[in-house]
Amino acid sequence: MKNECLFCAIVAREIPATVVYETDTTLAFRDINPHAPTHVLVVPKNHVRDAGELAEAGLADEVIKTAKAVAVAEGIAESGYRLVLNTGPDSGQSVFHAHLHLLGGAPLTLQMG
Ligand code: IMP
Repeated sequence: MKNECLFCAIVAREIPATVVYETDTTLAFRDINPHAPTHVLVVPKNHVRDAGELAEAGLADEVIKTAKAVAVAEGIAESGYRLVLNTGPDSGQSVFHAHLHLLGGAPLTLQMG
């Protein structure tokens, strides 16, 4: 893979992913290890490290709009869903290309840690 960043490589189609939605600036694809019936990751196509950089780049709105569009397409917009942005080591962030988790399709419990 040419890109050292995993999610940059997915955006560049250098490694496969199940893409469910795309805009000029964002890509949405299924999480490889789902924690809910619907578990999609929404990433900015441009590399930013985390939620803070996402906001500073002016891309947070677009990422959230894409998540809403995915929720509608998945049929979970009315039943509800959770959006999670892990940021930094204590959050458990493991891929340092900002990504918004969209989780839904069943009642979710809130687990801390
Ligand atoms: P984080 O822990 O918030 O950084 O989330 C990273 C997410 O990326 C995890 O939920 C992983 O399951 C997911 N993930 C890792 N590699 C891939 C992949 O190649 N395709 C799709 N999702 C991935």
